[in-house]
Amino acid sequence: MKDDEEKLHGGLLVSSFDEASCISRFQSYLYRKASPYKPSKYLISKLRNYENLHQRCGPYTKSYNKTMKEGANFSKNGVDSMCKYLIWTIADGLGNRMISMVSAFLYAILTDRVLLVRFNDEMLNLFCEPFPNSSWMLPENFPFPNDLNQLQTFESIIAKNKENNSQDLLPSISFLPLMNYNSGNSRFHCDKNQDLLRKIPVLILQSHEYFVPSLYIVSSFRQDFDKMFPDKDTTFHLLGRYLFHPSNIAWERIKNVYKEHLAKVNERIGLQIRIYNIRDTPEETIINETISCLEQNKLLPKFNMSSPLEKNTSKVILVVSLYSKYGEGLKSIYESNTSLSKEVIKVYQPSHEENQNSGDNMHNIKAWVDIYLLGLCDTLVTSPGSTFGYVAHSLGGMKPLILKSIDGKTIPDLPCQRLKDMEPCYYDPPNYNCASDIPVDYTSIFHNIKRCIDLPQGMRIINT
Ligand code: GDP
Repeated sequence: MKDDEEKLHGGLLVSSFDEASCISRFQSYLYRKASPYKPSKYLISKLRNYENLHQRCGPYTKSYNKTMKEGANFSKNGVDSMCKYLIWTIADGLGNRMISMVSAFLYAILTDRVLLVRFNDEMLNLFCEPFPNSSWMLPENFPFPNDLNQLQTFESIIAKNKENNSQDLLPSISFLPLMNYNSGNSRFHCDKNQDLLRKIPVLILQSHEYFVPSLYIVSSFRQDFDKMFPDKDTTFHLLGRYLFHPSNIAWERIKNVYKEHLAKVNERIGLQIRIYNIRDTPEETIINETISCLEQNKLLPKFNMSSPLEKNTSKVILVVSLYSKYGEGLKSIYESNTSLSKEVIKVYQPSHEENQNSGDNMHNIKAWVDIYLLGLCDTLVTSPGSTFGYVAHSLGGMKPLILKSIDGKTIPDLPCQRLKDMEPCYYDPPNYNCASDIPVDYTSIFHNIKRCIDLPQGMRIINT
């Protein structure tokens, strides 16, 4: 019984899947620590309702064929009784993609839409199908426009509606770009715009953002949101654990690394080093900052000091980075300097791609494996402002130490800070008051929305 409870994450997941098609779904509980964050009864019921909707309206069902049969000229009649769709499309790296997928899923649940994903070849074989007896893949024959801007965009719809206030002009398919350089972002959280969007059967979303806080700001969604997530900072954790199960290919890799390098040690320290500007960031500075963070937080002993621990312990630092030099640098320091300490410290880096290549399938599988492995560690140290790091800590159910951004060679006295909550940061949140048409700071209106400690212009939902 306890096994079942853990396997299905307290009712978050259902067992009606074929085990061979997605081994991780049934085995992950043997590798991940049980999550202390349980889903609310209301969230469970919303997920079961969503699964029914997806089965009824998913690809190739009667309802799907009916809605899509006219190709790009989607029928608009009877929108309320028809199935409605939210099509997720790719933008940026894997971390960005995963935070926007979770946001899209929550948006779909809140608006009774069916979430379909357009993965292209580059995203195949990363995740299992998340919904029972159906698929979330957008069928190949969907008449996807070559240029999404050919469609009426969300902003143009708002603008038109402002001018003549006639909803007859609403299209049956629209492009919803929620990118941080896009001004449409700043109007998405307005109730009246959500009323417009509700009437459009097919929305094609492109976003690299964690726009969940925008959904919280929409007053017509808030009650549902509150009931689903009494603990606000578990939103990504629970929806991410619901959606993202490693494919068999990814799972094989994860298990192999775990068994070989993580299983036999007393403590696993995950370290993510994400450097955006490799030329201007000296390797030595990053390594020294990391060591200073590990020492200050007593994760590793100071060099040349006897370990205060009585017993021999063993630890591994799992280094996750695009670049091999960080793993190699830390390995040469730790594996040769532990003679006075009673701790045995190993350093292991599973991959080093050297370049970001988000259009490549195997590259993305390796990135997913790295993200998942970080979540199997006992403690995490991550880089600031990285969605890759956000996904790792939030899926893992951890509050990481986040390294400080450094300019030049000076290491700050406080090299890292403990994150108090688990939610990803929303980089470019709205700051527009829909009612009064003037700028507003939402962190001063909602006590559970705060500025991100690693990125002060961003905001993050927190527990209160
Ligand atoms: P962000 O740019 O840090 O917010 O994270 P993203 O995941 O959106 O984009 C970075 C992309 O670069 C990843 O998706 C990977 O493709 C690649 N990348 C960055 N760091 C790593 C790493 O540590 N391991 C691997 N395998 N890939 C990485």
